[in-house]
Amino acid sequence: MQTAKTISEVRIAVRNAQAAGKRIGCVPTMGALHAGHLSLIEKARQDSDFVVVTIFVNPTQFGPSEDLSKYPRPLQRDLKLCEQAGADLVFHPDVPTIYQKEPQITVSVGDLATRWEGASRPGHFDGVATVVTKLFNIVGPDVAFFGQKDFQQLSIIRAICKDLDFPIEIISCPTIREEDGLALSSRNAYLSSASRKSSTVLYQALCLAEELTQRDEFTLEQIRHKMHSLLLSQPGVEPVYATIVDTERLEELEQRQTKIVAIIAAKLGQTRLIDNMIIRL
Ligand code: AMP
Repeated sequence: MQTAKTISEVRIAVRNAQAAGKRIGCVPTMGALHAGHLSLIEKARQDSDFVVVTIFVNPTQFGPSEDLSKYPRPLQRDLKLCEQAGADLVFHPDVPTIYQKEPQITVSVGDLATRWEGASRPGHFDGVATVVTKLFNIVGPDVAFFGQKDFQQLSIIRAICKDLDFPIEIISCPTIREEDGLALSSRNAYLSSASRKSSTVLYQALCLAEELTQRDEFTLEQIRHKMHSLLLSQPGVEPVYATIVDTERLEELEQRQTKIVAIIAAKLGQTRLIDNMIIRL
């Protein structure tokens, strides 16, 4: 496995792989890798011939009161895991490599960035869209792999490719969970043991949404209330949103559709967790 800290090293490695006729796959991450990230790398291994993992804790997607400085950065461990999972190249630039001084151009996302995660985290999705656009331009992949876990992010990345004409196939990978249902996240490490116990209620609320939408007994509005009540039933869980939306624009729905998505965010102490479940009716 190769590693690269500079853009030119990445471009040379990718050009060589392309010259050998290889299909380039890209897995963007912020590191602190867990089995969720590794499932993306393994999927990339299956679906492409040259797997580029990027590890970059992107400062522009963190708000001023968020956890940028304490975000875990176990680089040596991450590199080992990437190698075991089958990466060919890991790009782990430092901040000045990605962000030149006083950039004039950033990517700004429309409506889709103002809802849900965007409402709680102003500027977050513009930061994500800008860095993903830059990483796509640096790596130039044929295909890129993202987790369904970050459903709104995935919708925005699909919109970037569509609206900015990136010829990149976007593959959504299923959410990897702990045995009790908690979606794996680098932020789970911040949970106290009491919060960890309560945290399974997010998955339970999604399962409840799935079960109730598949029956005709309740309206979607009533189901939203039940999701909220279930979240509130666990000590220390503060719901931010718990609702049912369409899978493209993520607009709140009043009526059932054949494919919908239940989305949840909740605070447990200082830690904010998100999760979602696609429901087919
Ligand atoms: P992050 O390092 O948090 O930016 O995540 C990098 C990629 O891993 C994103 O595409 C995430 O959606 C994906 N990811 C994070 N957690 C999981 C999980 N539990 N299962 C599958 N993919 C995940």
